[in-house]
Amino acid sequence: MQDKLTLMIPGPTPVPETVLKEIGRHPIGHRSSEFQNLVQRTTEQLKWLHQTTNEVLVLTGSGTAAMEAGIINTLSKGDKVLCGENGKFGERWVKVAKAYGLDVKVIKEEWGKPLDPTKFKNELENDKKKEIRAVIITHSETSTGVINDLKTISEYVHRYGNALIIVDCVTSLGACNVPMDEWELDVVASGSQKGYMIPPGLSFVAMSKRAWKAYERSDLPKFYLDLGPYKSTSLKNSNPFTPAVNLYFGLEKSLNMMQEEGLANIFNRHSRHRSAIQAAMHAIKLPLFAAEEHGSPSITAIEPQFINAEELRKTVLNRYDILLAGGQDHLKGKVFRIGHLGFVNDRDILTVIAAIEGTLDALRLHKTNPGAGMAAAARILA
Ligand SMILES: *Cc1c(COP(=O)(O)O)cnc(C)c1O
Repeated sequence: MQDKLTLMIPGPTPVPETVLKEIGRHPIGHRSSEFQNLVQRTTEQLKWLHQTTNEVLVLTGSGTAAMEAGIINTLSKGDKVLCGENGKFGERWVKVAKAYGLDVKVIKEEWGKPLDPTKFKNELENDKKKEIRAVIITHSETSTGVINDLKTISEYVHRYGNALIIVDCVTSLGACNVPMDEWELDVVASGSQKGYMIPPGLSFVAMSKRAWKAYERSDLPKFYLDLGPYKSTSLKNSNPFTPAVNLYFGLEKSLNMMQEEGLANIFNRHSRHRSAIQAAMHAIKLPLFAAEEHGSPSITAIEPQFINAEELRKTVLNRYDILLAGGQDHLKGKVFRIGHLGFVNDRDILTVIAAIEGTLDALRLHKTNPGAGMAAAARILA
């Protein structure tokens, strides 16, 4: 049905009407005082979201732009780095690092398993000459629905060396606790179409003092994503190029909504939704792809086994106008993913579970009593 599509993919995520309306305003000049005031206000809000006193820089681009910026602004050709890889986005880090000629050591885990902090610790401890310049990981691995233990890995980075910790927080920021200063994260990258509840087009990168120090020696080529000019103009509430003015309008509104809800409530909501979906899938005998205790707060991957995941996904879309995500690469057809990130409430969770149950029922594949998943989820949400 027209206008009824509900996105339950891990980005783009649903956008509140207040935000959409604001984005629909006539643009204003990006050198006007009105825009400068807007930048000043959103900068403060972004610092709040990142739990940091560092500048949070806003780029025009998708999340990958922030990831790439994080690398090219802190590292130099031939630098040794450790990259964590346990899914598609970990692979992306490796590709970006290699594209810029870094000396990459990959610390791998099977897809669906979390990164093992001890492996990072061992590498860092064994690096007697302290040549490892950065440890680069994904916090919430969207492709598999796994949350990595960023806090512990960051602790090891600081305890056993002087490497930077560079993190893709695209599907963790705004979904679970990412206290940049407390965890001493050096580069935090994120994108607007995820936890921020606004459409794609903005990406965000925050850098610590240590990262800015590394910027001084970094020799990788850069121009549009050179963060130096972004920082100096940000301090004057401006931007080196023409920013996506209308997305800034939406950004302020969405951050207002987030501030009204409060960080603790936002994190709690995502965590409840994760638990409700896990319990529902358990009740209807659809196996989770990743172990419950490593489940991401924003995406749950499910491996139905007795039905092709793409068939289930397509039926849910056709019957119920709910878009779920498929599996990536070798998981295509094996796995489907429920995005529960950003502008999502309890009703959305119950609805998607009902749609999955209805689909299984229609295909005569429901393994238990229809409504069992709903009941399990409702109990947790109550
Ligand atoms: C969505 C996403 C990105 C960014 O992808 P873009 O398409 O460039 O916005 C990066 N990392 C993770 C973990 C993501 O989920």
